[in-house]
Amino acid sequence: MQWTEQVTQTISVHQKFTVQLENVRDRDKLTYSLARFVGTVTPKPSSQSTKLMLHNTATGSSLSYPIADGFFKAYITLSPGGNNLEFRIEGRKVHGITLEFSIPARDRFIRLVYVRCKDDDGRFQAPEWEDDSAESAKRRVILGAQLLQMFVAEKMREAGHGRRTIHFESDADGVPVCHDHETRLSMQDAHGFKDPNTFFRHLAKELVRSNFKNKDPAVCKWLVFTSFTRYMKPHDAPAPQNHTEAEQYMKGHVVLGGGGLAIMSTAGLHTWPERVEELYDRLTDERLIDSHNLMPIAWNWKPFHCNCFSASLGATIHEVGHTLNLAHSKQGIMRYGFVDLRNFLIDRDDGRAFWEDYQADFLRYHKWLNDGSIENDQKGPRLIEGNRIWSKHGLRSVQVWLKQEVVQRWCLSDTPNTFSMDEHLHEVRDILSSTFQTRAPDGKVKLVAIDSLGNIMEKRWLLPVD
Ligand SMILES: [Zn+2]
Repeated sequence: MQWTEQVTQTISVHQKFTVQLENVRDRDKLTYSLARFVGTVTPKPSSQSTKLMLHNTATGSSLSYPIADGFFKAYITLSPGGNNLEFRIEGRKVHGITLEFSIPARDRFIRLVYVRCKDDDGRFQAPEWEDDSAESAKRRVILGAQLLQMFVAEKMREAGHGRRTIHFESDADGVPVCHDHETRLSMQDAHGFKDPNTFFRHLAKELVRSNFKNKDPAVCKWLVFTSFTRYMKPHDAPAPQNHTEAEQYMKGHVVLGGGGLAIMSTAGLHTWPERVEELYDRLTDERLIDSHNLMPIAWNWKPFHCNCFSASLGATIHEVGHTLNLAHSKQGIMRYGFVDLRNFLIDRDDGRAFWEDYQADFLRYHKWLNDGSIENDQKGPRLIEGNRIWSKHGLRSVQVWLKQEVVQRWCLSDTPNTFSMDEHLHEVRDILSSTFQTRAPDGKVKLVAIDSLGNIMEKRWLLPVD
């Protein structure tokens, strides 16, 4: 059966209800520890209080999820090896499957780090009822990472590429690890940076010189959370009315990704769950953020707690996307669709939480989503004379970027060894059109290409004039 087909499976039992799973089949293998189930219950339960209970006999955990108009999305943690999962309604087992979680043997990983200042204990900003300790922060970051890993896998499966996903540095049970890092900066230093790029470069340098093992950029990318992010609105100032107004009160608020590093502010971390048991409540928490004391994120909707969770977790995968050589697209995660991560997790429709097809095709070959060993790294695509891109391993995708934005791209299903930019000049010029000179005064765009082995070329290129 093809992955692209919708997988539907029915097990009729004697009970009243039947569960159909749309995204998972019995005996599927996952390389990550948080499983997602999308499905329907027939007949539709007449009472809204009828819940779907998901039980993992391998771990003993049980979680219940609402069934909305016969539809559900449910999540549970797996332990390494086989996991027998039971779906129960009204106390009766109505469905059962086995999923295998096998920890991938992979050279490349993303390392999670929680940074605190040298004169601070690493608490993050949160309302008084939340645990704001560094330990709580790290549990939230780890679950967030597991959710993103699962998101990438599910979206790649939907795009027809199997459950390929990113891999975080993990413990023996395959659960991501979040490290501590004490920066040489004081709280005052960290709040003093005017330009997030300067802070980005500072932290990148610090991490490269740190005592962490295995820092080779050929295997390690970093996803870093800043404990010292603070919203500091003066008491007598009015509550901000939009995102820009809110940002002026922020200190240590960095949201940036590129190369081997993504840095995330913790302005929304207080809305993230620590445990999967809390996930559903967090996704439906429609209390307004107290915008006198905490940054109101997700302004385009309403700054509900659940929207803040959605936008800040979504922003994390957007920035990780930049570290995976993705630029801004017209739609989806690499545009403003990242704020819809909540839709993916809870609604029937995933909203704008997706990669564009050409980005999924690109990630299909990306080394951070594949098992290849670093020992097999080979020379990748390069620009040769005659404005041609060449790779002996076959080109899979070529993109033209202008200012971190994809303006044109080609998916190359016949994997040619060369791709002539000259043959596509008219096309590119037409798209760039009249605004090009103001947008790129030096006349340069960026050419990005990936080959069958996941080797990537990013090269600034002077667009030949007419
Ligand atoms: Zn971006």
